[in-house]
Amino acid sequence: MARKFFVGGNWKCNGTTEEVKKIVATLNDAQVPPQEVVEVVVSPPFVFLPLVKSTLRPDFHVAAQNCWVKKGGAFTGEVSAEMLVNLGIPWVILGHSERRQLMGESNEFVGDKTAYALSKGLKVIACVGETLEQREAGSTMDVVAAQTKAIAERISNWADVVIAYEPVWAIGTGKVATPAQAQEVHCELRKWLHANTSPEVAATTRIIYGGSVNGGNCKELAAQPDVDGFLVGGASLKPEFIDIIKSAV
Ligand code: PEP
Repeated sequence: MARKFFVGGNWKCNGTTEEVKKIVATLNDAQVPPQEVVEVVVSPPFVFLPLVKSTLRPDFHVAAQNCWVKKGGAFTGEVSAEMLVNLGIPWVILGHSERRQLMGESNEFVGDKTAYALSKGLKVIACVGETLEQREAGSTMDVVAAQTKAIAERISNWADVVIAYEPVWAIGTGKVATPAQAQEVHCELRKWLHANTSPEVAATTRIIYGGSVNGGNCKELAAQPDVDGFLVGGASLKPEFIDIIKSAV
């Protein structure tokens, strides 16, 4: 079964109202392949979600960058899955390496969050990826498999999950993985899904690459058979995000 190309834009903790309006205007004017060919999801900071949702073209969708691990309540500073659903936000990014590293989110916590978000009807971009030390120690696949396992043990509905393979050493560093490096991990991840979930999940789950993707390197990465799209940070704030969307064809 063909996997629809997926391009996510992670705006991280960036932007003012004026800057957000400018990015949305650029996206709204862009000529891109139809949504039958490429699924586009942009992820502004929480505070801009309503603005972006109400002004973004309807063929592009919106994601939150995180949500709380269970039902809301006395969790100061958190945003619940229920709130995102209430706002009509269809997607959430979970387990981004910045949250794993800076906020100490464990594999189990990310797995719990993924299960809870799915149970409330959100679709999840679940991020996995190794650090440079882990890659150099030859443990890339062990790390990525352990991160994926913590999710797989807690969910059964893979139809609403996109896995983002984002090597930590490539995020925001300008050091993009080579197409061969990305393909190798994506292929191994798909084999892992085949062995540990089901052949159908392995064949249909989109595995996207993230880490210093830009308008210049996206085509070659997109040509890899197991690269089903991208999660883009820095370049998603710039007009070259349109070129990345166009790499779907
Ligand atoms: C990201 O934050 O998910 C990311 C991939 O960032 P960048 O594209 O800036 O490396």
